[in-house]
This record gives sequence, C-alpha cells and structure tokens, in this order.
Amino acid sequence: MSFKKLKLPSYLLDALAAMNYEKPYPIQTEVIPAVRKKQDVLGIAKTGSGKTLSYVLPILRNLEGVTKLKNRHINTLVLVPTRELAIQVEEVFRSFEKYVPYPFRSMAVYGGVSINPQMQKLNNINVLVATPGRLLELYEKNAVNFSSVSTLVLDEADKMLNLGFKEEMDQILGKLPFMRQNLLFSATLSPDINTIQAGLLKDPVVVDLGQEE
Ligand code: ADP
Ligand code: MG
Repeated sequence: MSFKKLKLPSYLLDALAAMNYEKPYPIQTEVIPAVRKKQDVLGIAKTGSGKTLSYVLPILRNLEGVTKLKNRHINTLVLVPTRELAIQVEEVFRSFEKYVPYPFRSMAVYGGVSINPQMQKLNNINVLVATPGRLLELYEKNAVNFSSVSTLVLDEADKMLNLGFKEEMDQILGKLPFMRQNLLFSATLSPDINTIQAGLLKDPVVVDLGQEE
C-alpha cells in the first residue's frame, strides 16, 4: 500500500515525502478513503498506530475548495481530552500548512492558560483543535462561530469520558450544525464509547484494529 494509491493529492504526497512518511499505517489505509467519501467513521486502534494522520490527511484534502480568504469560520472541529494532545494534533495539521495550495489555518485552544490571547487569535481559523471546557468558555464569550463546522473529530474519546468530559461534549455537540461528518477515535471500545458512537455516527465505517489491553 502507498499513500499514492489512497488517491491523496500531489501536494500531500510531497509533504509526506518531505516528512519521511514512506507508507500508510493500516489504520490510515482504512480510514483515509472513508473520510474522503465524507462518511462517518469509528476508528479503534492502539496508541501509536497512526490515528492522527488517518484523519488529518483526508480532512486537508476535503478542505480544498472550501476555505476562503475572507470570513472564514471553523470548518473542522477536533475535540481532544488534554492540552498536550491539543498542541500535538494542531502541530500535525500545521506541519502541512506550507504544502496546501489553499488558505489554511489551524489553532489549538485549551485550558490552564489565560483565555484572552486565544480569543484574539480566533479569527480565520479553518481547523480548531480544542479541549471541551475551554471551547465552551470561548463559546460563551462569543469567540467561536460553529456555523460552518462540517466535520467533527472526537479523538481519544475514551480518555475524554474517563476525564469526565461527557457533559461538556454533549453541550458542544448540541451547538454544532446538524449536517456534518463525525469521526470518532478511541484506543478502547467500552460500553460508554458504544453509547456515544451509536448516538453520534450515521452509518459509520467501522475500523477496529484491536483495542488497547
Ligand atoms: P495514535 O493517535 O494512534 O496514538 P499517532 O497518530 O500519534 O498515533 O502516531 C504515532 C506515531 O507514528 C507518530 O510519531 C507519527 O508521526 C507516526 N506515524 C504515523 N503514521 C505514520 C506512517 N504512515 N509512517 C511512519 N510513521 C507514522
Ligand atoms: Mg492519537
């Protein structure tokens, strides 16, 4: 298998080559085509199996033609459980910024730091990576606009539940446009994850590569 066979555009193939990614991991081979087709996805695979690129790459391709220079609202919202993961995932998106041939900006927001600098930077962002609590705070201050969100990613959904973010997650989901693509990733498939996916995902492509012990 190769990234090229997954029909990724040349600018992403160039970026992957420059970053020394040689071939897709199994989760990427399965998830990338489904995300490209705008399907909902449930992705279960152990930590370290490459779940991030499995959604970052097709999302970047799907944003082609969607983003504009002016009046950009958030197109993709990625919810993550921790500040560290927010920073890490946003850096993966950002690493492709100079390769994509369209206007593209990503940003991470998370708690534990003052909110004002984040509020000031929250303009013209296409991909927002956020922890649930801080995202709701920003929403209450009218600093984020969800009206253009067409793809939602819940990454490390199991950890989000373990950290007690269920209520915040539900609040955020209730504020998003109804018509959207939903991608849920988790290292474990617990009864709680099953409940969430059943309520959230529509005819999902299920990629279960075996959960964490
Ligand atoms: P997960 O989210 O499943 O825990 P990550 O997306 O964080 O896994 O990826 C784990 C590591 O594997 C990262 O360092 C990432 O850069 C690397 N990686 C991801 N995909 C590939 C690939 N196709 N080839 C080589 N390394 C990869
Ligand atoms: Mg991950």
